[in-house]
Amino acid sequence: MAFQFCLRCGGALQDEWVEEEERERPVCRTCGFILYRNPKVVAGVIPCQDGRALLLRRMIEPARGKWTFPAGYVELGESVEEAAIRETREEVAVEIGELSLLNVYSYRESPVVTVVYLSRIIGGNPRTGQEAEEVAFFPPEGLPWEELAFRSTHEALRDWIHKLQHK
Ligand SMILES: [Zn+2]
Repeated sequence: MAFQFCLRCGGALQDEWVEEEERERPVCRTCGFILYRNPKVVAGVIPCQDGRALLLRRMIEPARGKWTFPAGYVELGESVEEAAIRETREEVAVEIGELSLLNVYSYRESPVVTVVYLSRIIGGNPRTGQEAEEVAFFPPEGLPWEELAFRSTHEALRDWIHKLQHK
């Protein structure tokens, strides 16, 4: 959904061709403010224990009822790694060890860039937080492929399996 009004002066925004950048952007007709719309960063973790991945079944939209790993928006004032640790604590109540970057998932049609880490569970007892109706461990050969939440979920778990097979 697009903004209609200028964030600085409240004037009307109108799509205009910005010559220097060779693309159309919403520009304020009153003060000239240019609205830059960029993807947001999502931090995710596949928490592992004994070769299995801890996933959660989403209780909220989007993708309600589907499985994914803990992930959420990075806040201003924290690093991507800090967000990954925080989201894991909030969503499945476990503490994780050292983070190892799995991959970055970015799609033209998606408004988010998802950075996914692998990590080992070092503490806590997995349980549901506010966003999950169920949490469970899955072995690589028993993942719920037909019930995964997002394209990035699917591709990250595929990359995890690939990594397990080639280490
Ligand atoms: Zn303005």
